[in-house]
Parts: sequence; structure tokens; C-alpha cells
Amino acid sequence: MYEVIKNRLEQGHRTSKYPKEPISLYKRFRGLPRIDSNCDQALVKLCADSCPQDAIDAQSKKIDLGRCVFCGLCETLSGGKFIQFSQNFELGVANKSDLLTGGSLPELAEHSKKHFKKLFGRSLQLRQISAAGCNACEADTNVLNTPFFDLARFGIQFVASPRHADGIHVTGPISRNMKAAVISTFEAVPSPKVVIASGACSISGGPFYGSDEIVGDLDSLIPVDLYIPGCPPHPLTTLHALLNYFK
Ligand code: SF4
Ligand code: SF4
Repeated sequence: MYEVIKNRLEQGHRTSKYPKEPISLYKRFRGLPRIDSNCDQALVKLCADSCPQDAIDAQSKKIDLGRCVFCGLCETLSGGKFIQFSQNFELGVANKSDLLTGGSLPELAEHSKKHFKKLFGRSLQLRQISAAGCNACEADTNVLNTPFFDLARFGIQFVASPRHADGIHVTGPISRNMKAAVISTFEAVPSPKVVIASGACSISGGPFYGSDEIVGDLDSLIPVDLYIPGCPPHPLTTLHALLNYFK
């Protein structure tokens, strides 16, 4: 017992002070891209043609963050002249069309005030569905329950039964085998309910885009309220989206 107390005193309080205090991420983290719309068109085309996700629209010089897997190839190819990734992890949006971005995203809070704050402001229970994800999205969601992020202190928890949930949080590219499970889990959640598409896979198919083995984007099956881009989304991206949308 003495050892446990000693250990606690030595370790101190490890929970992040975010969002009360800003937090810095490791310098290699790729967040919201800075896009130079004056960049030479040939360079933009090179990036668009090379993008493994077909996420760059060369005409409008925008990136679809719902497709992007943040591999950094476009930044390397353009030497940062077209795209440079910032460390801004605040990427969640309420409207999918906003993910096609020229370097900025709308505030989530404004949308949320009109929709969900009154309903779920004090407590939000979510049922996680892994619809054939590679397990990175799932692992980085799980991390939110560790002492550093301590999601429960905000009144947000993941629960075992959809009947105890206010909504579902879906990761993975929705394989054909998981289609029925996603729909029946969604239907088992009592209304009013929310649907969160987390990660490039559930938003757009991600690296599995175009495969016959997947059903398609989550919003082709059920209505989606919140989109959280990334491959996988950083836990802070998810935390920011949840806090700004529901709390
Ligand atoms: S970082 Fe995104 S937009 Fe750039 S090449 Fe990779 S997938 Fe495409
Ligand atoms: S979005 Fe990326 S990390 Fe998440 S399940 Fe798909 S491939 Fe894996």
C-alpha cells in the first residue's frame, strides 16, 4: 500500500489540461493543410495525379479531407509550395461538403448550438462499431479512455449496448459483411440519436475506396451528423470534435 501511495505521489496528476489549456503535438503530426492557391498549376497537377487517394481537386486546388490519409506525399512533391500540413488537429465537421477544403474549416460550435447541445450537453453515451477497420481507428478511439485523455470526465462514455447509447461512432470502411450489423445497431439506439463517421474509411472508404468488398460511405446507409477525418483521426481530433459538437 505504501508503495502504491509513493508511486502516485511520484507520478503526480497526468491527465491533460486540454481543452482548458492548449496542447502541442509532435512536430511530425499532420493536421489541417495550408494550401497555397497561387501555386503553379503544373505542381498542383503533379500532386493530384500522384495522390494515392485521389483526394486533390487540381481545378479548385482543394483537398478532400474525407479521402486524404495524411500520407504527406503532396507536401513532399510540392516541397511545401502547394501544401504544407499544420499541427492543427481540429478537423471535425458537421457537413461532409466542408471536408473539401482550401485550407480552412467552419466552426463546429455554431452548428452544434442549434442541434445537439441541449439534448446531449450533460451526458453522451456512444456505441462503437468497427465496420472492418484496420484497428488503428479503433485503437486511437480506445486511447481516449486512458488517464491522459480521461474522456469520462466530460460525461462522454462508450457503452456496450446500443440500447443504452445516444448514438453510434463508426470506424472502418463498412464491409458488405458488416452492413447489416451497422444498420441494426443504428436502429437499436433510441431516438433522438447521433451518428459519427470517424476516419477516412467510414467517411469515404479510405484506402478501400472503390473495392467491391465495401458498401460505400457510411452516409449512403444512414444519416451522419459528425465527420472526423484522419487515418486514423488523432485522439485529440476526436476529443475536439466531440466536445465542440455535443458539449
Ligand atoms: S496527404 Fe492526402 S492529399 Fe496529400 S497525397 Fe497523401 S492522401 Fe493525397
Ligand atoms: S481510416 Fe485508416 S486507420 Fe482508420 S480504419 Fe481506415 S485504414 Fe485504418
